[in-house]
Amino acid sequence: HKKPKILILGAGYGGMMTASRLLKSSVYQDAEITLVNKHNYHYQTTWLHEPAAGTLHHDRTRMRIDSVIDMNKINFIKDEVKEIKTDEKKVILESGELDYDYLVIGLGSEPETFGIPGVEEHAFAIRSVNSVRLIREHIEYMFANYNNEVEKHDEYLRFIVAGAGFTGIEFVGELSERIPELCEEYDIDRDKVRVYSVEAAPTALPGFDEELVNYAMNLLESRGVEFRINTPIKEVKEDGVLLNDGEEIKASTVVWTTGVKGNSVLDKSGFETMRGRIKVEKDLRAPGFDNVFVIGDCALIINEEINRPYPPTAQIAIQQAYTCSNNIKALLSGSEKLEHFTPDIKGTVASLGGKEAIGLVGTKKLYGQSASAVKKMIDNRYLFLLGGMPLVLKKGKLNIF
Ligand code: FAD
Repeated sequence: HKKPKILILGAGYGGMMTASRLLKSSVYQDAEITLVNKHNYHYQTTWLHEPAAGTLHHDRTRMRIDSVIDMNKINFIKDEVKEIKTDEKKVILESGELDYDYLVIGLGSEPETFGIPGVEEHAFAIRSVNSVRLIREHIEYMFANYNNEVEKHDEYLRFIVAGAGFTGIEFVGELSERIPELCEEYDIDRDKVRVYSVEAAPTALPGFDEELVNYAMNLLESRGVEFRINTPIKEVKEDGVLLNDGEEIKASTVVWTTGVKGNSVLDKSGFETMRGRIKVEKDLRAPGFDNVFVIGDCALIINEEINRPYPPTAQIAIQQAYTCSNNIKALLSGSEKLEHFTPDIKGTVASLGGKEAIGLVGTKKLYGQSASAVKKMIDNRYLFLLGGMPLVLKKGKLNIF
């Protein structure tokens, strides 16, 4: 009697937590579990704005997978997923292929460019350890270059962040904290540096509480951030952006944070998607498949109260991992009664750099240092769920206040 094979694609919030739950519930004794990920480390995507701006070293946002997942109980394969062949129950990797009885897709997201020309060629993305390390190095290189050229290039010191959603605002917050340090280090007047937050919608942080949005904008403006709201970008060029109204802003650094779509592997594999995401059934399975689960940013779930999709978050990815692992366990034990997933949104907190943040927890609004403390506790809680107190002590944000 061969053990059924469970294959988990992606070791992000969803994939890691699924693997961890399957370990904790002893499912590994009755099944052969394999986790595939591009890198041999797991990183916390929600922290990436910090290493991108250079306010936190990128090693603080990542950990080796074998330091948290017992490799005697779960197979780990470091490889890139290229395609899923559901009709053959097979996954094609860059170097090899794997078959499965149960599949969990947790491959995360990709930047949404809306087809705007030049984004892929000229803009940076906050997406992975590799992509944010490049942003940090590029920013420093621009500062280092400025004083070393006879003809001064003001565009070296101009930074455009496209999109003032959560990621864009969090990054602008970190960047505005880092710039005074960079100015000091590279002998540059603060006045020479310009940071633009450009947003197509009529407000920053669309959909968020107005008072909190105002607090964030005032704070960031006081640190020198210039908001361009209601300002769609028409094109990204090598030397800046062209706005819809014809104006050009010259800048050597454009960071693109206008939202995400699901991993393109899903489209390539023939799944029906909306913005690259699979609209999953209540039990988190892909429609028409009884053995394929989709979680995290690859999954689309509808908030029935407003009849609109939930924005993809780590919070939801983690909760889905619990439901997904319970449902796999149920299927293995022959039960057809699967759990339905309902997100339990505890709140939303956005950091603004330094000891500043804004947040909505239940109906309570949080500002400043207390919001920032809650944010750090959220980050630590995840580490606790994944690896207990030892992981919190090793990788956590212990300097809470
Ligand atoms: P991820 O955690 O992104 O993991 C996907 C994994 O799959 C990665 O390890 C990746 O390397 C791997 N992978 C991708 N493609 C392949 C492939 N082809 N082959 C093999 N491996 C692959 N959410 C919140 O809830 N709260 C927040 O405060 C918050 N802040 C954020 C701040 C920033 C700057 C960003 C960028 C996002 C933030 N989010 C936040 C959103 C959150 O990060 C995502 O919703 C969450 O990471 C989704 O989890 P996931 O498991 O689907 O994917």
